[in-house]
Amino acid sequence: MKLIPACEEDQQLLRRLEAEAGTNVNLCYQCGKCSAGCPAAFAMDYPPRQVIRLLQLGMVKQALKAESIWICASCETCSTRCPRGVDIASLMDTLRREALRQGLITDKKVAAFNQAFLNGVRLFGRTYEAGLLLQHNLKTMQPFKDAQYGLPMMKRGKISILPAKIKNRDQVKKIFDKVQQLGGE
Ligand code: SF4
Ligand code: SF4
Repeated sequence: MKLIPACEEDQQLLRRLEAEAGTNVNLCYQCGKCSAGCPAAFAMDYPPRQVIRLLQLGMVKQALKAESIWICASCETCSTRCPRGVDIASLMDTLRREALRQGLITDKKVAAFNQAFLNGVRLFGRTYEAGLLLQHNLKTMQPFKDAQYGLPMMKRGKISILPAKIKNRDQVKKIFDKVQQLGGE
């Protein structure tokens, strides 16, 4: 990988992303505790510690194009473990939003999954697995992907045909509306 000095534009973008995420990447001393605890690191191109390193080096575009930001499950383990208080989970979330804004999505399937998941939570107040799979398959033009698992999983009660009903669904919708009002995607 060729390192070049970060340009002014990238520095400004980084400052904006840090402000949006409410954290400072320069606090990180690269101990690796975040990556060691991340349940999704095995599938990432850059584990959380390296995403932070890219940002420290001003390689913001590289971080925005990383598949890791779409693989991150927002579990917050990294932020909880970080001895320097870097909110890595919030940064991952901020990077996802910025990648969407800039159209820098390298893994369209993961982005489609992310969108289908959020649509389900918005509509039903919690994840609706059957709807999520259907939406994701249609968006990624593979309507019958994993269809063979549907029936056995339904028989074992792992997924349901209909979405579960939760109380106060309108409150969840209000949260999504508020996020959109504040400029969220
Ligand atoms: S746990 Fe915190 S200090 Fe350690 S590498 Fe991760 S972000 Fe940096
Ligand atoms: S929030 Fe994302 S990056 Fe952090 S530990 Fe969880 S999956 Fe990994």
